[in-house]
Amino acid sequence: MKFFKRDKKEISSKREKKRKVWGINKETLYLILEVSKESYPKEFIATLIAKKGVIEEINLLPGTLSGDSMAIIRTHMQPPDITLSVVGIVHSHPSKEFQPSGADLHFFSRFGNTHIIVGKPYNVDSWQAYDAFGNPIELKVVD
Ligand SMILES: [Zn+2]
Repeated sequence: MKFFKRDKKEISSKREKKRKVWGINKETLYLILEVSKESYPKEFIATLIAKKGVIEEINLLPGTLSGDSMAIIRTHMQPPDITLSVVGIVHSHPSKEFQPSGADLHFFSRFGNTHIIVGKPYNVDSWQAYDAFGNPIELKVVD
């Protein structure tokens, strides 16, 4: 009986670990939309930083997803504050399309488990979060 209980607990904690990010701070989302708009027609890329399952901060990166930003992301993967963690990448598209491209999918599989793509016109209806495989996921916008 004891063993059974422990097993159950382990399974549920594993599941939790798999998808620990469930929300995004409203102000952070607005900042992402604003910076995406300002960066247009260039792509904007930033790391997503979460605290207790909610994306609270972004860290702007130079370059493009296929370029030098990969190395920079690696150094950003271990922030000094252990309560904060980089969970993935946000980037903008210079079009209305906010589906991941082939290159995006390749990139997603290599960094983190929560990614956001923003498309034109960069408002609350023109973004989507994805998991590492490019499947759409729901992020709750938190006040
Ligand atoms: Zn893309």
